[in-house]
Amino acid sequence: MSQSLKIAIIGAGLSGISAARSLVAAGHAVVIFDKSRGSGGRLSSKRTEFGQFDMGAQYFTARDHSFRQELKTWLDARCVEEWTPRLYQYDQSGLRRSQDNQQRFVGYPRMTAWSRALLEGLELVSSTRIEKLQAQDDGQWLLLDDQQQAHGPFARVVVATPAPQAVTLLEPASQLAHAASQVEMLAGWTLALSFNQPLDTPMDACFVREGPIDWISRNSSKPGRDESDTWVIQSTPAWAQAHIDSDKDTVASDLLSAFAEVLSMDLPTAQFTHVHRWLYARPGQQCEWGALAAPELGLYACGDWCLGGRVENAWLSGQQAAKTLLSKH
Ligand SMILES: Cc1cc2nc3c(=O)[nH]c(=O)nc-3n(C[C@H](O)[C@H](O)[C@H](O)COP(=O)(O)OP(=O)(O)OC[C@H]3O[C@@H](n4cnc5c(N)ncnc54)[C@H](O)[C@@H]3O)c2cc1C
Repeated sequence: MSQSLKIAIIGAGLSGISAARSLVAAGHAVVIFDKSRGSGGRLSSKRTEFGQFDMGAQYFTARDHSFRQELKTWLDARCVEEWTPRLYQYDQSGLRRSQDNQQRFVGYPRMTAWSRALLEGLELVSSTRIEKLQAQDDGQWLLLDDQQQAHGPFARVVVATPAPQAVTLLEPASQLAHAASQVEMLAGWTLALSFNQPLDTPMDACFVREGPIDWISRNSSKPGRDESDTWVIQSTPAWAQAHIDSDKDTVASDLLSAFAEVLSMDLPTAQFTHVHRWLYARPGQQCEWGALAAPELGLYACGDWCLGGRVENAWLSGQQAAKTLLSKH
């Protein structure tokens, strides 16, 4: 085997985890850094005494052949399950059953259970925001965090953050930084609700094509979730942008009214309400880069913004970054 490299990955979302798993499997020593206390990035679950909520990605698809192969092992390990919601759509002509028969999968028993399982055996340094990459005379990299601590040195660095957060980190590789700076990430608001009594509707999920809401899901209809009737409502990017600085109570009340309108019913008072703002929910455009690489500097970048804003693409982008890095080694 060729020499084992020390590799840093910035970002413990799915793309970073995907790259890390491939690089470790190839015999390299990988350390993942994340600014959050936890991991999973936009695979995000909130656990409360009123139930648990998937606040970021709602489900994932598996269209790519290699991804479907991996999926089998995750299904066997029971960290992922298929979700078959009674799916609706809502537009100007009202609410009706959707004909969409796409297969959907979710982390089991919550979205982050999947990313946690994938991180097992990997070295994660959490609560550490990396601000800058500093080149050493021997071509290696030091990672400087926001507490002025240096980490490393590392022979290679993979930046696996959303594009706007990648720009400064990629500054030493100006072409990569430029590419990342061209990607616009769209915002989103997520509202989580829990009700005492189940809402009187057969709907488990709904694509909404009218008003401020983009997506509704009965979180409790996903496999392994709790008994209580929990819902997650997501705004459209356009509505989020127009209400980016609104206070959370106003956002909750607006989305709640729109939810009631979709269901054509007066909603009971929710026993739990929580609102989260995503500044970088999804990339605004579909790029086909796979991953970005400056092999002469040992710098790489991956993330959903390199391939399209979906969970599956984040995974594939991480795979691509690792493959490129390994082929240049
Ligand atoms: C509300 C919402 C709903 C969605 N719904 C779906 C869906 O239903 N289906 C689907 O397929 N996709 C969905 N997506 C998209 C999906 O979640 C993403 O495509 C995917 O999770 C992105 O993974 P990633 O690894 O590219 O980035 P992220 O998951 O964003 O991971 C990046 C990580 O980098 C860390 N980080 C950032 N900057 C730094 C720094 N300076 N130092 C250290 N760490 C840093 C962050 O904390 C984060 O953990 C949704 C996204 C959102 C927000």
